[in-house]
Amino acid sequence: MNLEFFGAAGEVTGSCHVLRVAGKTVLLDCGLIQGSRADEERNAQPFPFDASKVDAVVLSHAHLDHCGRLPLLVKRGFRGPVYAQAASCDLVAILLADAARLEERDARYQSRKTGRRVKPLYSIDEANDAVRQLQARPYRKPFEVVPGVEVRFRDAGHILGSCSVEVRVTDGDISRRLVFSGDLGQYDTPILKDPECIDHADVVLMESTYGGRRHRDRSETIREIGEIIARAGSGKGNILIPAFAIGRSQEILYQLGKHYEEWGLHRFEIFLDSPMAIEVTRVYDNWLHIMDHDDVRQLSDAHRSSLEGFLPSLNCC
Ligand SMILES: [Zn+2]
Repeated sequence: MNLEFFGAAGEVTGSCHVLRVAGKTVLLDCGLIQGSRADEERNAQPFPFDASKVDAVVLSHAHLDHCGRLPLLVKRGFRGPVYAQAASCDLVAILLADAARLEERDARYQSRKTGRRVKPLYSIDEANDAVRQLQARPYRKPFEVVPGVEVRFRDAGHILGSCSVEVRVTDGDISRRLVFSGDLGQYDTPILKDPECIDHADVVLMESTYGGRRHRDRSETIREIGEIIARAGSGKGNILIPAFAIGRSQEILYQLGKHYEEWGLHRFEIFLDSPMAIEVTRVYDNWLHIMDHDDVRQLSDAHRSSLEGFLPSLNCC
């Protein structure tokens, strides 16, 4: 077994690790490098391996810094399967299409500005080509990726469909268990299940983005949101909440629904002003059965069957 790191090592984004076992090559994630323009220009550089020689890709989750270079991999000759947790596949399709749209728009703008033809990193058609190679797999059921590499997805509690990837590698009569943590969520994140505990590994590939930081207690944040809403309500003010389209927007919708009476939210019109967040919220609604049962029960106790419906005064626009 041989492991090489080509991203999210010494930096946060661009997660991409190459696992070689018995003549086969498997990629763990194929993420976009995000950050400054100089950082992002590195996305266009050739991969430090031959894309056409990669046998399969395993994705930990749908954030672009974990899947955003898949269309490039396909464009450069990769023809194998891309395994991802089933709910994650729905999100990957949305994210890659959105990334391609932004790339095309940026390329048009740069072309106009510079007077020479600037090509996008990849087009919408190329993003769709990558999406067609997705193979959905459920949590906890082991499956073979290539001979000698068996994978089991475990819930990482980070966003819908996020996984820690348990890899059983067999090379001749040697067997090892590699655990690729993916991005790990916090315990008690609303709607999502807690990260699963994995009890055995020979090698651990661990994300550590917030490893040096102690997160604030969630209940303090919830109390502060309540205070802000109360202040805005009494002063007839408006509240703008900037939020990531995946995960954070749904968490906020859930909290607003849960505290609807307590925070007097009937006084407010609430707008979810992001086509992508709206689309992602609907994907979340389709997958409520794999989320935290107690939190989802709050929806049914309120006679609602979706996050969108949990908040009576929500306008999606
Ligand atoms: Zn992530």
